Amino acid sequence: MKIVIVGGGIAGLSLARELALRGIRSTVLERAPQLNPVGAGIIMNPNAMRMLEKNGLADEVRRDSWPYLTRETRDRTGRLLATRDYRPLYQAGKLAQGALVHRAHLLGTLFRRLPPCTVNFGAFIKSAASLNADLLVGADGIHSQVRREVFGETRPRYMGYRSHRLVMDNVADVRCFTEYLGRGQRIGLVPISEKRLYVWTTFNSPRHEQPVPDLPRMFSQFTHEPVRHLFSRLPQPHQIITTDIEELWAGYWTRDKAVLLGDSAHAMTPNIGQGAGMAMEDAAVLAEELAGNDKMHVALANYVRRRKPRVETVMRISREVGEDGQRSGALACWLRNRRIAREGRNVEKTLADLERLLAYSG
Ligand SMILES: Cc1cc2nc3c(=O)[nH]c(=O)nc-3n(C[C@H](O)[C@H](O)[C@H](O)COP(=O)(O)OP(=O)(O)OC[C@H]3O[C@@H](n4cnc5c(N)ncnc54)[C@H](O)[C@@H]3O)c2cc1C
Repeated sequence: MKIVIVGGGIAGLSLARELALRGIRSTVLERAPQLNPVGAGIIMNPNAMRMLEKNGLADEVRRDSWPYLTRETRDRTGRLLATRDYRPLYQAGKLAQGALVHRAHLLGTLFRRLPPCTVNFGAFIKSAASLNADLLVGADGIHSQVRREVFGETRPRYMGYRSHRLVMDNVADVRCFTEYLGRGQRIGLVPISEKRLYVWTTFNSPRHEQPVPDLPRMFSQFTHEPVRHLFSRLPQPHQIITTDIEELWAGYWTRDKAVLLGDSAHAMTPNIGQGAGMAMEDAAVLAEELAGNDKMHVALANYVRRRKPRVETVMRISREVGEDGQRSGALACWLRNRRIAREGRNVEKTLADLERLLAYSG
């Protein structure tokens, strides 16, 4: 079986790994000239780490990461609203331990463990139809060429807010994932090693607005001392990634001998850190179905049947968390913060909700 995967991001590399483990060779065509060494941090939630545990890469990913044990939610002044403690779920063996990592490390790990010559860098595809393959996999992201050519155009939907991402020295000694909720803006502080910190923001904005160079001023509503300190020491503007937050849902994920996975099928908002997790789950399920079925169309239909409901649910939750987080009215924010504090006190329910969302094992 000749499998060609277009796109060597998290989805494409994960699929190549999952296939290789099942004795199926694949070729990944990646248009970038080399593995992308930049990018910021990424939250590997317990379900993503479970996939990495199953495919043998978790130890290597964890080796250069920060353990995701607790998460604090604070208001814009720094007042603690809620603490989510994952440790009881880890200790009970219900969830794999989450990890906070640099994207480059994650991609590097996925890449290094592939059979030699699996990935062709600098590969430009004139037309997906011209590729000679028994199975063509579109893992080429939200603006997928494979999707456009095989399934027709589906445009991403802009969600009304944008995001900054950067990695810097952890000069405020942040020890756990901390999210600050402001009015129409949020800030996330995510340690990814002893010394390094991944910082993200979200902010209500028209699409493609020019980046504002003065971030401390733009986010001046956040008055907690660690945030102020960090924002006075931000890296150069060219080291800050600014992204429109978009969603995309492809109605069809398979046609004849083509299939979509990851963002090319379902790009979601980043509010619960699940886009890459979903791509990894997709990859594991698709590889399992391809290895377990003689008939390609059965394998592809099973993949879609197993994945769509799960991805749809996760995408909806992520969208709702974003809508809540981007509220801008004073009263709406006050009510939101009060609700988050109240819900945070119900530890049993919080843990049950987390387990339902994150205990996926394929
Ligand atoms: C601000 C932000 C924060 C996020 N944070 C998290 C998080 O904390 N946790 C999480 O799980 N997810 C997160 N995500 C989501 C996550 O980044 C994506 O879901 C994930 O990267 C999708 O992987 P992918 O491989 O499907 O697509 P991509 O990462 O887009 O990879 C696609 C690859 O295909 C290549 N390509 C594109 N077109 C072609 C072509 N025509 N030919 C050849 N190659 C091509 C590209 O160069 C790229 O390497 C975040 C997303 C955003 C926007």
